[in-house]
Amino acid sequence: MRNGLSKDLIARVLGGAPKYTLDELETKFPARNLPEGAMVTRFAPSPTGYMHLGNLYSFLIDYKLAQQSNGIFLLRIEDTDTKREIKEAVNVVIKALSDFGIKYNNDEQYGPYYQSQRKDIYHSVAAYLLEKGLAYPCFLTQEEMDDIREKQGLAGIATGIYGEFARDRDMSEEDIIKHLDNGETPTIRLYSMGDPNKRIYFKDFVRGSISLPENNEDIVLIKSTDRLPTYHFAHLCDDHFMRITHVVRGEEYFGTVALHIQMFRMMGWQLPNYIHTATLDKIDEETGKQRKMSKRKDPENNIAFFLQEGWPTESVVEYLGNILAPGYEEAKLKGQVRCFWDYELKPKKIPGSGSLFDMKKLEWWAKEYIATLPVSELVKNVVDWANEYGNEDNKKQVADVPYLTSVLSIERDNPKRIRKDFITWQQTLSEVSYFWDFLFNANKEYEYNKDVLREFLATYNANDDKDSWWNKIVAVAEKCGVKPGEVAMNLRVAMTGRTNTPDLYSVMQVLGGERVKERVNMIL
Ligand code: GLU
Repeated sequence: MRNGLSKDLIARVLGGAPKYTLDELETKFPARNLPEGAMVTRFAPSPTGYMHLGNLYSFLIDYKLAQQSNGIFLLRIEDTDTKREIKEAVNVVIKALSDFGIKYNNDEQYGPYYQSQRKDIYHSVAAYLLEKGLAYPCFLTQEEMDDIREKQGLAGIATGIYGEFARDRDMSEEDIIKHLDNGETPTIRLYSMGDPNKRIYFKDFVRGSISLPENNEDIVLIKSTDRLPTYHFAHLCDDHFMRITHVVRGEEYFGTVALHIQMFRMMGWQLPNYIHTATLDKIDEETGKQRKMSKRKDPENNIAFFLQEGWPTESVVEYLGNILAPGYEEAKLKGQVRCFWDYELKPKKIPGSGSLFDMKKLEWWAKEYIATLPVSELVKNVVDWANEYGNEDNKKQVADVPYLTSVLSIERDNPKRIRKDFITWQQTLSEVSYFWDFLFNANKEYEYNKDVLREFLATYNANDDKDSWWNKIVAVAEKCGVKPGEVAMNLRVAMTGRTNTPDLYSVMQVLGGERVKERVNMIL
């Protein structure tokens, strides 16, 4: 500890007197009145305009923990470090949450939720630290810090502002005033009393009991450029005053835990529980090796990809849920739970190292999910997707909703035998494209038995029920000396251009008598 600064000097150092005392902040943001065990979590993105799969993975955990414990999940915008257009980027965040069915609960009492609007809070905490001698103003210039770094590099020792390199650590009030009079704006640094030869112990939910060397760096709490907090200091203040119980964040933050524990202890505040998640990996298509997802190489790393391609977002949640909560798939197959939201996520079981995200597996979850949808919902999803993301052809396909509904109703009436060939809304439309004349490509390669087609036309009646229709096919087969299956195959290819389709009778009923005759005649 050093000598604390006087109130006047604190006001000068911070560019204004602090608005609150710590006690006032404690009263303004009281402990939450929640049932025992309720978890308070937050998703705290720095808005970049791009939401990656790791973000989704994180906020699913946050949301799930709050949801299953009757707690609270909130959204905090960490915008103290960005020079970008914030509004657009925040919209990307909000849309991602809503696309994946996630609701956040930013109750007014604990706001504001943009860090850029919480300066008063950070400055009030900083003032407390300055007063107690737990922080100090530092006037090192960029050049001076570069020099220090270079020297440290040459000496092969840890870089940063610590110990003997922290020139201004014990600067007297008089000298501080001289710098201020000189027009300099200081950064506010932590007065670290950590000793890297000692270790700090803590328990991470994913990684278990861990020890890390204590932090001795006088890290920046408040930047001189805009007087906004660094991530570390904002994390301390916000997660305390928002009364967050569980901090879920990427493993890249693991290295800073010792510093964070040091700061929470210094304040006498309860440390949140940490859950440091592993990165999501994929199998590289070229090398066949497991590697991290890449923004540059992997389109699926961008959450928007799933919307654009029309993946049911529920199935992405289901699949990620299964990565997070081992055992979920089994419970679901056994019919014990309906969806991921009904399955208990045990924080301790969240995987601690490179989990694999495999698009092929996602296909399975998507097929299963679509198969459970009533036709009206399937239609609605397809129509919404086409109108928002589809091309002109897709839009034409969904223009006649009753027709689309009959197309998508095929093989959906028996709950035990629902077709499972629909994967995405986009692929659904292309899977059934032959139902629209402007998309239908007659198969000219197939060697049709034209006698069969001619005979079929001669007796065809669009009003026939399935039995009469089949009896006629058997009769045509006998007459032409072929098997009924061959008649059906000739018809199938003529109707759809494909050798593999759902139930042929249903297909022909939906196409309707006119189209059936037209397509057969086209071949003849
Ligand atoms: N703004 C940080 C990020 O986007 C938040 C990390 C955290 O959750 O504490 O990575």
